[in-house]
Amino acid sequence: MNSKQRYKRQISLPEIGEEGQEKLKKASILCVGAGGLGSPALLYLAAAGIGRIGIIDFDCVDLSNLQRQVLFTINDIGKSKTEQAQQKLLSLNPQIIVERYSEQLNAQNIETLFQSYDLIIDGSDNFETKFLINDAAIKYNKPWIYGAIQGFDGQVSIFDASQGPCYRCLYPEKPKTRIANCAETGVIGAVAGIIGVTQALQAIQMIVGHKSFVPLLGKLWILDGHMMETKTLNIPKNPNCPTCAQEHKNITLNFSSPVCYFIPEISAEQVSMMKNAVLIDVREQEEWDAGHIEGSLHYPLSKIENENMPARHQDKDIVLYCQRGVRSLQAARLLKDHGFPDVYSLSGGYEAWIKKDQSSRKNETEA
Ligand SMILES: [Zn+2]
Repeated sequence: MNSKQRYKRQISLPEIGEEGQEKLKKASILCVGAGGLGSPALLYLAAAGIGRIGIIDFDCVDLSNLQRQVLFTINDIGKSKTEQAQQKLLSLNPQIIVERYSEQLNAQNIETLFQSYDLIIDGSDNFETKFLINDAAIKYNKPWIYGAIQGFDGQVSIFDASQGPCYRCLYPEKPKTRIANCAETGVIGAVAGIIGVTQALQAIQMIVGHKSFVPLLGKLWILDGHMMETKTLNIPKNPNCPTCAQEHKNITLNFSSPVCYFIPEISAEQVSMMKNAVLIDVREQEEWDAGHIEGSLHYPLSKIENENMPARHQDKDIVLYCQRGVRSLQAARLLKDHGFPDVYSLSGGYEAWIKKDQSSRKNETEA
């Protein structure tokens, strides 16, 4: 097959040309995760002719992935993501090499993997992996392209500690709220697409290195998918950064697999039938004062986030509720982090409870 023909629409660009195309062909990129970010990034990188692409992901395709993970179709459900991704990318562009690793990135396998690629793309959905990528990228002197998505918002940056700040200069530690971790929160697929494709564009800029390109090195590009606004912030290098301020070769890599708790959500009807449960309202004081479920206890989320945990109730199930059922899920995960065994979240929150009361009263009157 004729490469010139395949790539002619980009070779014709003065920023790329034959020389840039040759650089893309010689480049190697490791993509961590073949999910919402990895799918669009990988498709565009393969199409652009990146010579060698590695994909690491231990997961299988699930129906709930298809809303944003555009590499996969319903025929892939239950199959290995890396295997299906490899097939798709090679059918798009058989002129490239696609290597796959069906395992979880960890402190042991990261050195060999990072050493064999020029550039890393972060398609992970949890802080633990992002910190590991960051620390290893500094240790082994690799630039990496960070991406994150949540709801309608997204962020992209390039970190290269040899010439700027690192991810820990921006986020020194894992946020306590646990939000945006483990794909627990929702995301609109199109935003995952924009962010993943932006990561691919950044990779192309870094590899081709034309003088007109200004990649996001040490800068945070933020997309607000509600207002359709973007902004770019400079990330200052932290002189006391826990990682990049130390001698790079002495960095120790730690990784504990992210804990993704499943919190059962139960309906107001189910809660009213539970005999052995303690109900805890995690809303703030004003909301509690304005009305709450009779017999429930009050323990606001703000306290739990500050690691002040409510009393344990031996042998009782804990049902958390808030106004609509979002904060109670967050509180439930924090309680699980602190070893509370049986924690439930009231689906729909206090509003669902009021509705249930109203409809049961209505039924009584009608009877
Ligand atoms: Zn740093």
